[in-house]
Amino acid sequence: MLKGKTALVTGSTSGIGLGIARALAAQGANIVLNGFGDTEGPKAEIAALGVKVAYHGADMSKPAEIEAMMTFAAAQFGQVDILVNNAGIQHVAKIENFPVERWDAVLAINLSSAFHATRLALPAMQAAHGGKGWGRIINVASVHGLVGSAEKSAYVAAKHGIVGLTKVTALENATTGVTCNAICPGWVLTPLVQKQVDAKAAAGGISNEQATQQLLGEKEPSMQFTTPEELGALAVFFCSPAGNNVRGVAWNMDGGWAAQ
Ligand code: NAD
Repeated sequence: MLKGKTALVTGSTSGIGLGIARALAAQGANIVLNGFGDTEGPKAEIAALGVKVAYHGADMSKPAEIEAMMTFAAAQFGQVDILVNNAGIQHVAKIENFPVERWDAVLAINLSSAFHATRLALPAMQAAHGGKGWGRIINVASVHGLVGSAEKSAYVAAKHGIVGLTKVTALENATTGVTCNAICPGWVLTPLVQKQVDAKAAAGGISNEQATQQLLGEKEPSMQFTTPEELGALAVFFCSPAGNNVRGVAWNMDGGWAAQ
């Protein structure tokens, strides 16, 4: 379905980003990966799906590096048709103890990076299909883009912000073939969440399994994690013809978290 298209997925060396990259590649899209840590494993995994893959190591907190990544992607594959703004970090502390430097980092990586990548991707998307436009911008927000949780001020502020940015991006392009939507996962067992499970286990002197059950029990009625595969399938839907007029939604996949 996406053969000949190019998808750039930020923060795609692990977790949800890698899951979405995998799902888009399985539909035939060429992929530009980004993120830290092991890059060879994810690159080989995507290439094995029979598509072209490139990697750029832009630090998403740095606008100049984001600009270099977008130029690199266009040089590699012509243009970016699908942009998935996924890179994100977490920091947990009460507001009065929240390190100012962590606040700035969370806002830069989880929110401002999406603004920069979006503003740089839009002109080519708007010019596609003889000026009628075609493009998909998918922002990986969070259920924390819809509701709050204590000790996550920067994350909740950034995720509410990205849901707002999603709506404005969708509205400004509503008469074109460029859509923008947000995905709002509940708990997904990635390294980002494993750290929170480990902290809970250490603080309570309990096992990993008990900490996991506690974490789910506090927020997620389904008592199960959403998977990167499920989130990848939702991203594929947004890219499909059926998604042509889905604009500005914040779609939660959260086991009922926000329904409470
Ligand atoms: P993860 O830690 O597994 O992956 C984060 C990715 O972002 C990695 O590839 C990492 O290298 C990259 N990254 C981090 N800082 C970066 C930077 N400065 N520049 C470039 N890349 C950077 O985490 P994840 O759980 O897969 O999170 C992905 C997204 O999903 C985040 O935006 C997160 O807020 C969101 N999310 C996660 C959950 C969850 O439960 N895991 C729930 C809701 C939303």
